[in-house]
Order: sequence, then structure tokens, then C-alpha cells
Amino acid sequence: MSVRVEQEATPVDEDREFRREIRDWFAANVTDDLRGAGGAGRENEAFEQRSEFARRLAAAGWSTLAWPAEHGGQGASLARQVIFHEEYARSGAPGRVDHIGLTMVGPTLIALGTPAQRQRFLPGIATATELWCQGYSEPGAGSDLAAVTTRARLDGDQWVITGQKVWTSLAHVADWCFMLVRTAPVPDGASRHAGLSYLLVPMRQAGITVRPIRQLTGDSEFNEVFFDEARTERDLVVGEPGQGWRVAMATLGFERGAATVGQQVGFQRDLDDLVALARRTGVADDPAVRERLTRAWIDLTVLRAHTLRVLAAPPAAGTATVIKLLWSRWRQGLGELAMTVLGPRGVAAAPGDDEADRWRRLFLFSRADTIYGGSNEIQRGILAERVLGLPRQDRR
Ligand SMILES: Cc1cc2nc3c(=O)[nH]c(=O)nc-3n(C[C@H](O)[C@H](O)[C@H](O)COP(=O)(O)OP(=O)(O)OC[C@H]3O[C@@H](n4cnc5c(N)ncnc54)[C@H](O)[C@@H]3O)c2cc1C
Repeated sequence: MSVRVEQEATPVDEDREFRREIRDWFAANVTDDLRGAGGAGRENEAFEQRSEFARRLAAAGWSTLAWPAEHGGQGASLARQVIFHEEYARSGAPGRVDHIGLTMVGPTLIALGTPAQRQRFLPGIATATELWCQGYSEPGAGSDLAAVTTRARLDGDQWVITGQKVWTSLAHVADWCFMLVRTAPVPDGASRHAGLSYLLVPMRQAGITVRPIRQLTGDSEFNEVFFDEARTERDLVVGEPGQGWRVAMATLGFERGAATVGQQVGFQRDLDDLVALARRTGVADDPAVRERLTRAWIDLTVLRAHTLRVLAAPPAAGTATVIKLLWSRWRQGLGELAMTVLGPRGVAAAPGDDEADRWRRLFLFSRADTIYGGSNEIQRGILAERVLGLPRQDRR
């Protein structure tokens, strides 16, 4: 007589199955024209195909893994989110077109939006049929965000918005913008954070002009956005009018997370490709280059270990900031190293030299890594004051 022992599937087995399922889906859906397209510094590449891919990804249920089930998501465990982002990066799937909606405004509406706002906007974000941009920075308000001067006043059932935003990524393709505007003067003796509001504004209207800014790479991924009596509905303010600072900061808190792990898988691929290039061209024989490549590998290994440790542990002060400081400097270093490996080809590549173009774009775009999402100087200031308890900087 034989005895069959039924074993319950453990979470580890299930996660393994989950990984296989995702891997199969990417194998079937990441076609050659999509592989490696888009991403930072290449946002305009194959935009239509990437949008279609995002819609397919959403239809398969992969886009909203991190969202709670009651808001149309899968409520997936952190382990599964990490698996998804790893496999996404490993498959060479294209840069997302819908990340601002999915990782910034979507979670903000889930946490702080009204039921009507969630009902109106979450489905469009989840299905990648409505794209978003972030309207925070202005010519006089970047690091000092509370200095925004774009203002909005109520006119009947609508907000009327006048002012200018700048560096607005993807505004030229966005359907909606979440923005921080001043809706009331600073009350006497109050902080400048009072009187700001967080509005959701339709981009396709007569009162909005989007003017692309040409970047170092030669491409235009961000824009100046001018608001001349632009309008949005009165109930499209998230949180209370005048309390927008809290909402704006909550959005920034959602920006990172499990996706960081996928980003680092992409970094590893970049490094592997650069090592292969150095070997192929003989540059790897140079002891100084060998040392820099090895150092890059060590630093990336440490960064990944630190990121996984942070994700697995309860959030601690400053940890997300440390990750941003480390990865931004790491990628800039890789760009600089790529220029060394390429040599004269880095500055005088023949037209159609896609390999040189890839590394040149990485080098040029990575200059921005220490600026957006809060510059590295600001991040270090936050660590100094909030984690180390050093004296506050004098800000007049
Ligand atoms: C590629 C890219 C995409 C972006 N996308 C968006 C977007 O979609 N939406 C959006 O709203 N914004 C976006 N930004 C803008 C970004 O958030 C700002 O560039 C950033 O906050 C810095 O502001 P700033 O450019 O006005 O520089 P400033 O604030 O003028 O800073 C200039 C320099 O002074 C330093 N500095 C300023 N204050 C201090 C201080 N207190 N202590 C020490 N040093 C200081 C800064 O670190 C920096 O080196 C993007 C920027 C880039 C580069």
C-alpha cells in the first residue's frame, strides 16, 4: 500500500509559481520592438507602443499589484511586488508611461481622496488610459517648494488657475496634472505651508500651454506649463483647501518602494553590458578601469542588500533618503565610467552607433539623478536635521 502525503503549498512555493507566471507573461508580451525602449532619458521612444503595452499589462492585472483590493488592486505582498519588479526589469520590458499615476497620484487618492475622486480617477490610472504629470516645481520654487506662486481662486463651481510650472515631466502627453497651488495668502504669523492646495487639473484645455524644454540629451521629456485662467472643478481638490502641503508631501512619500528593486536589476544589466563592452574593446586591460568596474559592482551589491533590508524592515527615519543618495551617485558614476570605456567614441560616435548613443544618453541624463525627487544637497540637509538632530539651517 502506498501512502500519499499531501503537502500544503507554502507561500514560498506560491511565490515561485507567481514568478513563473509573470516570467511567462513577459516572454509572450515583450516583443523585440519593445525590449529596452523608453525609460529615463528616452521617454519619447516608441511611446505609442509602450502605451499599448501598459494597457495590456493592466488588463492582465499586473499594474496595480500594490493597490489594496478594495480599490481595484491585488493587495499583493511586498515579496510579490519585488518579484514583479525584478521580472519586469529582467525581461527588458519597456519604460513605463503610467508610473506617475500608478505610484504617485493613485496611492494619494487611495489614502486621502474622496470616494467620488477615487471612483472618477482610479480606473483610468489602473488601466493606463489616463496619464498624469506632477505640477509642483516653478521657476522660483524647486527645493523651496512652499514658495509656489501659481494661484487658484474659486469662481462658482470651479477653480481658476494662473501661473507657471516648470520641469513638468511628460506634461506633453499627460491628460491630467496634480498640482500644488496657492489658494489663500499666508495667514499672519503662520508657516508658508498654509494656504496651499492640491488640485487635479485636466491638461487638455484652452487655458494651458505646454512648452517642451530641450534637454542635454537633445530630447524633450519635461516642459514649461503655463496656466492662464485654466479651470478645474471645485470638488477636485484633494484634502481640504489650504491643506495641500500635507497631501503634496504624502505623494512624495509614495514615490519609491518595491520598484527600487527593479531599478537596481536594470542597473545590474547596465553594468554587465558595460563590463562586456570593456572586455570586447580591450579597455578592461587598463588597471584603473578594472578597479572602477569592480568598485561599481561592489557598490551596487551593497546598495541592493541595503534596499532589501530596508524594504523588509519597518520604515526607519532617513532610510529611503539614503537609498536615493546612493543610487543617484551610483548611476552618475556609471555614466562617467561608460564615457571612459567608450573613449573618443563617446563624444564623436558615427551616426547610427546605437551602442555609443545608449551610453552617452545614460551619462547625460544621469546628471539629473541628483536633482529630481529632491536634490542630493536637500536630502543631506534632511538627514542632518531630522536624523542626526543637527541645528536647523537658517532659511530666511
Ligand atoms: C529630469 C527632471 C525631471 C523633473 N520632473 C519634475 C516633475 O515632473 N514635476 C515637478 O514638479 N518637478 C520636476 N522636476 C524638478 C525638480 O523637482 C527640481 O529640479 C528640484 O526640486 C530642484 O529644484 P530647482 O531645479 O528649482 O533647483 P534649486 O532649488 O534652485 O536648487 C539649485 C541648487 O541649489 C541647491 N540648494 C537649494 N536649496 C538648498 C539648501 N537649502 N541647502 C543646500 N543646497 C540647496 C540645490 O541642491 C541645487 O543644487 C524635475 C527635475 C528634473 C531634473
